[in-house]
Amino acid sequence: MSKDISSERNLTSIELGPQAKGFVSFFSKDPSLNRVIKDFRYGYIRASSFFKKKIPKVKLTLVYSREEMNNLLGYKTASWFVGYAGSSSKIFMLSPSVFDRESNHSKRDFRKVLCHEICHLFIRQIHNSYEPVWLEEGLAYCVAGQESRLKNSNPIFNNPEVIFLIDTRNRWNKTIGSQPDVPYALAFLLVDFLIRRYDKDRVIKLLMSLEGRYNKKTFCQKFKELYGKDIKLILKEFFSRQNEQKGGENYVSRTQSNI
Ligand SMILES: [Zn+2]
Repeated sequence: MSKDISSERNLTSIELGPQAKGFVSFFSKDPSLNRVIKDFRYGYIRASSFFKKKIPKVKLTLVYSREEMNNLLGYKTASWFVGYAGSSSKIFMLSPSVFDRESNHSKRDFRKVLCHEICHLFIRQIHNSYEPVWLEEGLAYCVAGQESRLKNSNPIFNNPEVIFLIDTRNRWNKTIGSQPDVPYALAFLLVDFLIRRYDKDRVIKLLMSLEGRYNKKTFCQKFKELYGKDIKLILKEFFSRQNEQKGGENYVSRTQSNI
């Protein structure tokens, strides 16, 4: 897209359902606007039906370059980074019109990534915190149906402490810096396992029980109360099933049918 349109930002509003409105801030000549609106509605409805909640207003700001994204975040973002959910129900995402040029994603990923970011907003309504990160990211991944990212990694897990290496923001960021696919894969596979083996409502109840705070000890207690077992036993079961299937490559998600 040419630079001369950069100053012409428009705002459009769309119906996302009863008592729910979306707003899109975009460059006036963005050819992908209709698609964005469709994907926005799709992502919102999908997340809303999973979490059985509504968010009355969601604002999506389309971003048109890596530089603009870096300026918004205040640091240099990696090439896989295409969007984020900010505070106050705001999402910032690369427009589909620049998606494959400004990132290493295919344009086709836009819909799922947008749904993923919308999920973060819903999760924040339930649990006003971003920790444990594996639970939040795994859930957003599951609801958005983003299992395709696993094609790039083949994780074999056996360390029962592994989820405590990706629970706080600091620890998650440290891991993700060197190997971004592995923590996402583990987060997705574990949450998908919890949903299939138990049910989605229990995962939502777990988030609610944390009351917007995270610490390892309380988390393990709440987990045991809800699942009737120590988290380490459930992890053991998860690892043995997962490793039987030789990691993520052969993994078949059934999350879709549980939504
Ligand atoms: Zn996320």
